[in-house]
Amino acid sequence: MAMGALATTVCAKHFGLGGSRSMDPSTVLVRAAFATTTVTNLFFDSTTDDRVGASSDGQAIIVTTTDPWAYTATDGTKIESTRAKISINVSSWNNGSSTWRAGTLIHELGHVFNMLLGAGGSDFVYDALPGGAPNAEAEATNARILRDCIQD
Ligand SMILES: [Zn+2]
Repeated sequence: MAMGALATTVCAKHFGLGGSRSMDPSTVLVRAAFATTTVTNLFFDSTTDDRVGASSDGQAIIVTTTDPWAYTATDGTKIESTRAKISINVSSWNNGSSTWRAGTLIHELGHVFNMLLGAGGSDFVYDALPGGAPNAEAEATNARILRDCIQD
């Protein structure tokens, strides 16, 4: 379902703000799904943080960047990383509908595109408060973006 959504222009337009040099979100997701190591540019992990259905983090080498979509570190610099991981809350995943799962993957992929060096950015905004709890206003922005991809 996520792959089908990413294949539509109305959903895909939210990815690859960097233009033709950006990565293809479907390709990044497929490679992560079939990754057998954590040395791919995106890989999956699990979380037991019950405040979230899933979360994303930069991994490996962190670099400062001028990419406008990059998220801001605690010291105020914009950063990207050479790898990223999506951590799935297994309980939420097992209890979620296929629509919820697809939406969760696309939402997290949106964050990954803003974190991963060379991915090329997305419209999805940083949506955690300091300490990791969800930022409701930013979550609402991301929910509006996601409606171009998945309708529940
Ligand atoms: Zn989010």
